[in-house]
Amino acid sequence: MASSPPDITIPTDLLPGDGRFCCGPSKVRPEAVAALAAEAGEYLGTSHRQPGVRFMVARLRNGLAEMFALPDGYEVLLGNGGTTAFWDALSFGVVQERSHHLVFGEFSGKFAEVTRSAPHLGEPSTAKADPGSAPALAAVEGVDAYALTHNETSTGVAVTPTRPEGADPGSLVLVDATSAAGGLRFDPTDTDVYYFAPQKCLASDGGLWLAACSPAAIERIERISASDRWVPASLDLGIALENSRKDQTYNTPALATVFLAVQQVEWINQNGGLHFAAQRTEANARVAYEWAEASEHATPYVTDPELRSNVVATVDLADDVDATVVAAVLRANGVHDTESYRKLGRNQLRFALFPAIEADDVAALTRCIDHVVGELRTA
Ligand SMILES: *Cc1c(COP(=O)(O)O)cnc(C)c1O
Repeated sequence: MASSPPDITIPTDLLPGDGRFCCGPSKVRPEAVAALAAEAGEYLGTSHRQPGVRFMVARLRNGLAEMFALPDGYEVLLGNGGTTAFWDALSFGVVQERSHHLVFGEFSGKFAEVTRSAPHLGEPSTAKADPGSAPALAAVEGVDAYALTHNETSTGVAVTPTRPEGADPGSLVLVDATSAAGGLRFDPTDTDVYYFAPQKCLASDGGLWLAACSPAAIERIERISASDRWVPASLDLGIALENSRKDQTYNTPALATVFLAVQQVEWINQNGGLHFAAQRTEANARVAYEWAEASEHATPYVTDPELRSNVVATVDLADDVDATVVAAVLRANGVHDTESYRKLGRNQLRFALFPAIEADDVAALTRCIDHVVGELRTA
Protein backbone atom coordinates (compact mmCIF):
# COMPACT_ATOMS: atom_id res chain seq x y z
CA MET A 1 0.00 0.00 0.00
CA ALA A 2 1.49 3.32 -1.13
CA SER A 3 0.03 5.55 1.59
CA SER A 4 -2.13 5.20 4.64
CA PRO A 5 -5.87 5.85 4.13
CA PRO A 6 -7.37 9.27 4.90
CA ASP A 7 -8.10 9.73 8.56
CA ILE A 8 -11.85 9.14 8.66
CA THR A 9 -13.52 7.84 11.79
CA ILE A 10 -16.85 6.12 11.19
CA PRO A 11 -19.31 6.96 14.02
CA THR A 12 -19.70 3.94 16.30
CA ASP A 13 -23.47 3.79 15.85
CA LEU A 14 -23.01 3.17 12.12
CA LEU A 15 -20.58 0.24 12.53
CA PRO A 16 -21.70 -3.40 12.15
CA GLY A 17 -21.73 -5.65 15.21
CA ASP A 18 -19.27 -7.90 13.37
CA GLY A 19 -16.99 -6.37 10.77
CA ARG A 20 -15.94 -9.53 8.92
CA PHE A 21 -17.02 -9.53 5.27
CA CYS A 22 -14.24 -11.61 3.71
CA CYS A 23 -15.26 -14.05 0.97
CA GLY A 24 -12.95 -16.67 2.48
CA PRO A 25 -11.72 -17.24 5.09
CA SER A 26 -15.05 -15.89 6.25
CA LYS A 27 -16.72 -14.91 9.50
CA VAL A 28 -16.75 -17.77 12.00
CA ARG A 29 -19.72 -17.61 14.37
CA PRO A 30 -18.59 -16.77 17.93
CA GLU A 31 -20.82 -19.58 19.24
CA ALA A 32 -18.80 -22.09 17.20
CA VAL A 33 -15.50 -20.77 18.58
CA ALA A 34 -16.90 -20.97 22.12
CA ALA A 35 -18.01 -24.56 21.53
CA LEU A 36 -14.52 -25.44 20.29
CA ALA A 37 -12.94 -23.84 23.36
CA ALA A 38 -15.33 -25.76 25.62
CA GLU A 39 -14.48 -29.12 24.04
CA ALA A 40 -10.83 -28.43 23.24
CA GLY A 41 -9.42 -30.38 26.17
CA GLU A 42 -11.08 -33.58 25.01
CA TYR A 43 -10.76 -33.05 21.28
CA LEU A 44 -7.85 -30.94 20.02
CA GLY A 45 -4.60 -32.86 20.09
CA THR A 46 -6.21 -36.31 19.92
CA SER A 47 -5.72 -38.94 17.23
CA HIS A 48 -7.69 -38.69 14.00
CA ARG A 49 -7.67 -42.50 13.87
CA GLN A 50 -9.55 -42.82 17.18
CA PRO A 51 -13.32 -42.65 17.82
CA GLY A 52 -13.37 -39.05 19.15
CA VAL A 53 -12.24 -37.38 15.93
CA ARG A 54 -13.76 -40.01 13.65
CA PHE A 55 -17.12 -39.32 15.29
CA MET A 56 -16.66 -35.62 14.45
CA VAL A 57 -15.88 -36.49 10.81
CA ALA A 58 -18.99 -38.71 10.76
CA ARG A 59 -21.07 -35.80 12.07
CA LEU A 60 -19.71 -33.64 9.26
CA ARG A 61 -20.40 -36.22 6.53
CA ASN A 62 -23.89 -37.04 7.86
CA GLY A 63 -24.71 -33.40 8.53
CA LEU A 64 -23.82 -32.45 4.96
CA ALA A 65 -25.87 -35.34 3.54
CA GLU A 66 -28.84 -34.10 5.58
CA MET A 67 -28.30 -30.42 4.69
CA PHE A 68 -28.13 -31.16 0.94
CA ALA A 69 -30.88 -33.83 1.18
CA LEU A 70 -28.59 -36.18 -0.76
CA PRO A 71 -30.38 -39.06 -2.52
CA ASP A 72 -29.55 -42.66 -1.57
CA GLY A 73 -26.18 -43.76 -2.86
CA TYR A 74 -24.55 -40.31 -2.76
CA GLU A 75 -21.49 -40.22 -0.48
CA VAL A 76 -19.54 -37.37 1.11
CA LEU A 77 -15.78 -37.63 0.57
CA LEU A 78 -13.13 -35.45 2.18
CA GLY A 79 -9.41 -34.87 2.13
CA ASN A 80 -6.70 -32.29 2.63
CA GLY A 81 -5.66 -29.44 0.40
CA GLY A 82 -8.83 -27.41 -0.14
CA THR A 83 -10.53 -26.89 -3.47
CA THR A 84 -7.31 -26.11 -5.34
CA ALA A 85 -5.89 -29.54 -4.49
CA PHE A 86 -9.25 -31.12 -5.31
CA TRP A 87 -9.05 -29.71 -8.88
CA ASP A 88 -5.83 -31.70 -9.26
CA ALA A 89 -7.52 -34.75 -7.71
CA LEU A 90 -10.41 -34.43 -10.19
CA SER A 91 -7.99 -34.21 -13.10
CA PHE A 92 -6.41 -37.45 -11.91
CA GLY A 93 -9.37 -39.38 -10.58
CA VAL A 94 -12.62 -38.27 -12.26
CA VAL A 95 -11.93 -36.79 -15.70
CA GLN A 96 -11.55 -39.79 -17.96
CA GLU A 97 -10.39 -38.19 -21.18
CA ARG A 98 -11.84 -34.79 -21.85
CA SER A 99 -13.68 -32.12 -19.87
CA HIS A 100 -15.80 -29.11 -20.84
CA HIS A 101 -15.62 -25.97 -18.70
CA LEU A 102 -17.89 -22.99 -18.29
CA VAL A 103 -15.39 -20.19 -17.71
CA PHE A 104 -16.64 -16.85 -16.36
CA GLY A 105 -14.07 -15.70 -13.85
CA GLU A 106 -10.88 -16.49 -12.03
CA PHE A 107 -11.86 -19.74 -10.29
CA SER A 108 -13.66 -21.40 -13.18
CA GLY A 109 -10.67 -20.46 -15.35
CA LYS A 110 -8.22 -22.08 -12.95
CA PHE A 111 -9.82 -25.52 -13.13
CA ALA A 112 -9.87 -25.32 -16.95
CA GLU A 113 -6.13 -24.59 -16.80
CA VAL A 114 -5.59 -27.66 -14.56
CA THR A 115 -7.13 -30.07 -17.06
CA ARG A 116 -5.52 -28.25 -20.02
CA SER A 117 -2.05 -28.78 -18.56
CA ALA A 118 -2.62 -32.41 -17.44
CA PRO A 119 -0.50 -34.56 -19.79
CA HIS A 120 -2.77 -37.61 -19.44
CA LEU A 121 -5.93 -35.75 -20.56
CA GLY A 122 -7.11 -34.48 -23.93
CA GLU A 123 -7.50 -30.78 -24.62
CA PRO A 124 -10.55 -29.52 -22.68
CA SER A 125 -13.17 -27.39 -24.39
CA THR A 126 -14.42 -24.19 -22.81
CA ALA A 127 -17.45 -21.92 -23.12
CA LYS A 128 -16.49 -18.45 -21.96
CA ALA A 129 -18.40 -15.39 -20.89
CA ASP A 130 -17.23 -11.95 -19.86
CA PRO A 131 -16.79 -11.42 -16.13
CA GLY A 132 -20.12 -10.36 -14.63
CA SER A 133 -22.12 -12.74 -16.83
CA ALA A 134 -22.20 -16.53 -17.38
CA PRO A 135 -21.93 -18.77 -20.47
CA ALA A 136 -24.70 -21.13 -21.57
CA LEU A 137 -24.35 -24.84 -20.87
CA ALA A 138 -24.51 -27.02 -23.98
CA ALA A 139 -23.54 -30.64 -24.57
CA VAL A 140 -20.23 -31.28 -26.33
CA GLU A 141 -19.53 -34.58 -28.06
CA GLY A 142 -16.71 -36.66 -26.59
CA VAL A 143 -16.81 -34.92 -23.21
CA ASP A 144 -16.99 -37.12 -20.09
CA ALA A 145 -16.99 -34.38 -17.42
CA TYR A 146 -18.73 -30.98 -17.35
CA ALA A 147 -17.14 -28.40 -15.03
CA LEU A 148 -19.60 -25.87 -13.64
CA THR A 149 -19.26 -23.27 -10.91
CA HIS A 150 -22.23 -22.66 -8.62
CA ASN A 151 -20.95 -19.26 -7.53
CA GLU A 152 -18.05 -17.48 -9.27
CA THR A 153 -16.55 -15.82 -6.20
CA SER A 154 -14.35 -13.47 -8.21
CA THR A 155 -17.31 -11.73 -9.88
CA GLY A 156 -20.41 -12.42 -7.75
CA VAL A 157 -22.23 -14.40 -10.45
CA ALA A 158 -24.30 -17.42 -9.34
CA VAL A 159 -25.73 -20.08 -11.69
CA THR A 160 -27.84 -23.01 -10.48
CA PRO A 161 -26.22 -26.26 -11.69
CA THR A 162 -28.06 -28.32 -14.32
CA ARG A 163 -27.25 -31.29 -16.55
CA PRO A 164 -26.49 -30.47 -20.19
CA GLU A 165 -29.21 -31.77 -22.49
CA GLY A 166 -28.01 -34.40 -24.92
CA ALA A 167 -24.67 -35.04 -23.20
CA ASP A 168 -22.85 -38.34 -23.86
CA PRO A 169 -24.25 -41.13 -21.66
CA GLY A 170 -22.16 -41.59 -18.52
CA SER A 171 -20.77 -38.05 -18.59
CA LEU A 172 -20.54 -36.43 -15.16
CA VAL A 173 -21.40 -32.96 -13.84
CA LEU A 174 -18.70 -31.54 -11.54
CA VAL A 175 -19.68 -28.42 -9.62
CA ASP A 176 -17.27 -26.09 -7.88
CA ALA A 177 -19.50 -24.99 -5.01
CA THR A 178 -16.69 -23.66 -2.83
CA SER A 179 -18.47 -20.39 -2.01
CA ALA A 180 -22.03 -21.70 -2.57
CA ALA A 181 -22.31 -24.93 -0.58
CA GLY A 182 -24.49 -24.32 2.44
CA GLY A 183 -25.72 -20.94 1.21
CA LEU A 184 -27.43 -21.50 -2.15
CA ARG A 185 -30.18 -23.91 -3.17
CA PHE A 186 -29.57 -26.65 -5.74
CA ASP A 187 -30.87 -30.08 -6.72
CA PRO A 188 -28.24 -32.73 -5.91
CA THR A 189 -29.63 -35.04 -8.60
CA ASP A 190 -28.37 -32.47 -11.16
CA THR A 191 -24.79 -32.97 -9.93
CA ASP A 192 -22.29 -35.84 -9.72
CA VAL A 193 -19.49 -34.18 -7.76
CA TYR A 194 -20.57 -31.15 -5.74
CA TYR A 195 -17.33 -29.99 -4.12
CA PHE A 196 -16.28 -27.22 -1.79
CA ALA A 197 -14.10 -26.15 1.12
CA PRO A 198 -15.31 -25.09 4.58
CA GLN A 199 -13.90 -21.52 4.82
CA LYS A 200 -16.85 -19.88 3.04
CA CYS A 201 -20.54 -20.66 3.76
CA LEU A 202 -19.49 -23.29 6.31
CA ALA A 203 -17.86 -20.58 8.47
CA SER A 204 -14.84 -22.70 9.31
CA ASP A 205 -11.22 -22.59 8.17
CA GLY A 206 -9.45 -23.59 4.96
CA GLY A 207 -7.31 -26.54 3.96
CA LEU A 208 -9.94 -29.26 3.62
CA TRP A 209 -11.92 -30.34 0.55
CA LEU A 210 -15.37 -31.91 0.72
CA ALA A 211 -17.31 -33.51 -2.12
CA ALA A 212 -20.83 -34.95 -2.38
CA CYS A 213 -20.49 -37.71 -4.98
CA SER A 214 -23.20 -39.53 -6.94
CA PRO A 215 -23.12 -43.30 -7.49
CA ALA A 216 -21.94 -42.63 -11.08
CA ALA A 217 -19.07 -40.51 -9.77
CA ILE A 218 -18.11 -43.18 -7.22
CA GLU A 219 -18.11 -45.75 -10.00
CA ARG A 220 -15.82 -43.51 -12.12
CA ILE A 221 -13.47 -42.96 -9.17
CA GLU A 222 -13.24 -46.70 -8.50
CA ARG A 223 -12.68 -47.52 -12.17
CA ILE A 224 -9.89 -44.97 -12.72
CA SER A 225 -8.30 -45.82 -9.38
CA ALA A 226 -8.11 -49.49 -10.44
CA SER A 227 -6.62 -48.58 -13.86
CA ASP A 228 -2.92 -48.17 -14.60
CA ARG A 229 -3.07 -44.34 -14.59
CA TRP A 230 -0.39 -42.98 -12.26
CA VAL A 231 -1.87 -40.87 -9.48
CA PRO A 232 0.00 -39.30 -6.52
CA ALA A 233 -1.37 -40.94 -3.36
CA SER A 234 -2.36 -37.66 -1.68
CA LEU A 235 -4.55 -36.84 -4.72
CA ASP A 236 -5.89 -40.35 -5.27
CA LEU A 237 -9.67 -40.24 -4.92
CA GLY A 238 -9.80 -44.04 -4.60
CA ILE A 239 -7.73 -43.72 -1.44
CA ALA A 240 -9.86 -40.75 -0.31
CA LEU A 241 -13.02 -42.81 -0.85
CA GLU A 242 -11.68 -45.69 1.24
CA ASN A 243 -10.68 -43.36 4.08
CA SER A 244 -13.86 -41.28 3.94
CA ARG A 245 -15.98 -44.40 4.34
CA LYS A 246 -14.11 -44.97 7.61
CA ASP A 247 -14.65 -41.33 8.64
CA GLN A 248 -10.97 -40.63 8.22
CA THR A 249 -8.65 -38.76 5.88
CA TYR A 250 -5.57 -40.23 4.20
CA ASN A 251 -3.29 -37.92 6.17
CA THR A 252 -3.85 -35.72 9.21
CA PRO A 253 -6.63 -33.12 8.88
CA ALA A 254 -6.94 -29.84 10.82
CA LEU A 255 -9.15 -30.91 13.72
CA ALA A 256 -10.38 -27.39 14.51
CA THR A 257 -11.49 -26.95 10.90
CA VAL A 258 -13.56 -30.15 11.04
CA PHE A 259 -15.09 -29.11 14.38
CA LEU A 260 -16.07 -25.59 13.24
CA ALA A 261 -17.60 -26.94 10.03
CA VAL A 262 -19.72 -29.36 12.09
CA GLN A 263 -20.90 -26.46 14.24
CA GLN A 264 -22.09 -24.55 11.17
CA VAL A 265 -23.73 -27.51 9.43
CA GLU A 266 -25.57 -28.58 12.60
CA TRP A 267 -26.65 -24.98 13.27
CA ILE A 268 -28.11 -24.84 9.76
CA ASN A 269 -29.78 -28.25 10.07
CA GLN A 270 -31.26 -27.48 13.48
CA ASN A 271 -32.86 -24.36 12.02
CA GLY A 272 -34.43 -26.02 8.98
CA GLY A 273 -31.55 -27.02 6.71
CA LEU A 274 -30.42 -25.52 3.44
CA HIS A 275 -33.72 -23.64 3.13
CA PHE A 276 -32.85 -21.71 6.33
CA ALA A 277 -29.34 -20.90 5.13
CA ALA A 278 -30.57 -19.86 1.68
CA GLN A 279 -33.19 -17.59 3.27
CA ARG A 280 -30.46 -15.88 5.27
CA THR A 281 -28.29 -15.23 2.21
CA GLU A 282 -31.37 -14.07 0.28
CA ALA A 283 -32.11 -11.56 3.03
CA ASN A 284 -28.48 -10.36 3.01
CA ALA A 285 -28.53 -10.03 -0.78
CA ARG A 286 -31.78 -8.07 -0.73
CA VAL A 287 -30.23 -5.52 1.64
CA ALA A 288 -27.07 -5.20 -0.47
CA TYR A 289 -28.62 -4.93 -3.93
CA GLU A 290 -31.57 -2.75 -2.92
CA TRP A 291 -29.10 -0.33 -1.40
CA ALA A 292 -26.82 -0.40 -4.47
CA GLU A 293 -29.74 0.08 -6.89
CA ALA A 294 -31.05 3.05 -4.95
CA SER A 295 -27.63 4.56 -4.33
CA GLU A 296 -26.33 7.43 -6.41
CA HIS A 297 -22.66 6.35 -5.92
CA ALA A 298 -23.01 2.53 -6.04
CA THR A 299 -24.29 0.13 -8.76
CA PRO A 300 -24.58 -3.67 -8.73
CA TYR A 301 -21.77 -4.94 -10.98
CA VAL A 302 -23.80 -7.89 -12.27
CA THR A 303 -26.41 -6.27 -14.52
CA ASP A 304 -28.71 -9.29 -14.87
CA PRO A 305 -30.56 -9.62 -11.52
CA GLU A 306 -31.03 -13.37 -12.21
CA LEU A 307 -27.26 -13.88 -12.09
CA ARG A 308 -26.60 -11.77 -8.99
CA SER A 309 -25.13 -13.89 -6.24
CA ASN A 310 -26.79 -14.21 -2.85
CA VAL A 311 -23.47 -15.18 -1.25
CA VAL A 312 -20.97 -12.68 -2.72
CA ALA A 313 -21.94 -9.08 -3.57
CA THR A 314 -19.97 -7.04 -6.11
CA VAL A 315 -20.74 -3.33 -6.29
CA ASP A 316 -19.14 -0.75 -8.57
CA LEU A 317 -18.53 2.73 -7.18
CA ALA A 318 -18.82 6.04 -9.03
CA ASP A 319 -15.66 7.15 -10.85
CA ASP A 320 -14.97 10.06 -8.50
CA VAL A 321 -14.58 7.77 -5.46
CA ASP A 322 -11.68 5.33 -5.28
CA ALA A 323 -12.96 1.95 -4.09
CA THR A 324 -9.52 0.92 -2.78
CA VAL A 325 -9.51 4.03 -0.55
CA VAL A 326 -13.06 3.28 0.65
CA ALA A 327 -12.05 -0.31 1.49
CA ALA A 328 -8.91 0.92 3.28
CA VAL A 329 -10.90 3.40 5.39
CA LEU A 330 -13.43 0.69 6.25
CA ARG A 331 -10.59 -1.63 7.28
CA ALA A 332 -9.03 1.06 9.48
CA ASN A 333 -12.42 1.24 11.23
CA GLY A 334 -12.62 -2.53 11.79
CA VAL A 335 -14.76 -3.37 8.74
CA HIS A 336 -12.65 -5.93 6.91
CA ASP A 337 -12.03 -7.27 3.41
CA THR A 338 -14.38 -5.33 1.16
CA GLU A 339 -11.75 -5.04 -1.60
CA SER A 340 -12.76 -6.36 -5.03
CA TYR A 341 -11.11 -9.43 -6.50
CA ARG A 342 -7.63 -8.19 -7.30
CA LYS A 343 -7.44 -9.38 -10.90
CA LEU A 344 -10.85 -8.02 -11.90
CA GLY A 345 -9.33 -4.53 -11.94
CA ARG A 346 -12.53 -2.57 -11.36
CA ASN A 347 -13.47 0.35 -9.13
CA GLN A 348 -15.45 -2.06 -7.02
CA LEU A 349 -16.23 -3.34 -3.55
CA ARG A 350 -16.88 -7.03 -2.96
CA PHE A 351 -18.24 -8.47 0.29
CA ALA A 352 -19.58 -11.77 1.56
CA LEU A 353 -23.28 -12.41 2.27
CA PHE A 354 -22.70 -15.88 3.75
CA PRO A 355 -25.26 -17.46 6.16
CA ALA A 356 -23.17 -16.62 9.25
CA ILE A 357 -23.44 -12.90 8.43
CA GLU A 358 -26.37 -10.93 9.87
CA ALA A 359 -28.58 -8.86 7.54
CA ASP A 360 -28.34 -6.01 10.07
CA ASP A 361 -24.57 -6.05 9.64
CA VAL A 362 -24.90 -5.90 5.84
CA ALA A 363 -27.20 -2.89 6.30
CA ALA A 364 -24.64 -1.33 8.65
CA LEU A 365 -21.91 -1.94 6.07
CA THR A 366 -23.90 -0.04 3.44
CA ARG A 367 -24.34 2.88 5.86
CA CYS A 368 -20.58 2.84 6.53
CA ILE A 369 -19.84 2.93 2.79
CA ASP A 370 -22.25 5.87 2.35
CA HIS A 371 -20.58 7.70 5.23
CA VAL A 372 -17.06 7.15 3.90
CA VAL A 373 -18.04 8.22 0.35
CA GLY A 374 -19.63 11.37 1.76
CA GLU A 375 -16.52 12.21 3.78
CA LEU A 376 -14.20 11.58 0.83
CA ARG A 377 -16.29 13.81 -1.43
CA THR A 378 -16.27 16.74 0.99
CA ALA A 379 -12.60 16.37 1.91
C1 LIG B 1 -12.30 -19.93 -2.71
C2 LIG B 1 -12.60 -20.64 -3.96
C3 LIG B 1 -11.72 -21.60 -4.48
C4 LIG B 1 -10.38 -21.89 -3.85
O1 LIG B 1 -10.55 -22.59 -2.65
P1 LIG B 1 -9.26 -23.07 -1.82
O2 LIG B 1 -9.85 -23.94 -0.75
O3 LIG B 1 -8.59 -21.83 -1.32
O4 LIG B 1 -8.39 -23.81 -2.76
C5 LIG B 1 -12.10 -22.26 -5.62
N1 LIG B 1 -13.27 -22.02 -6.24
C6 LIG B 1 -14.14 -21.10 -5.77
C7 LIG B 1 -15.44 -20.88 -6.49
C8 LIG B 1 -13.83 -20.39 -4.62
O5 LIG B 1 -14.69 -19.48 -4.15
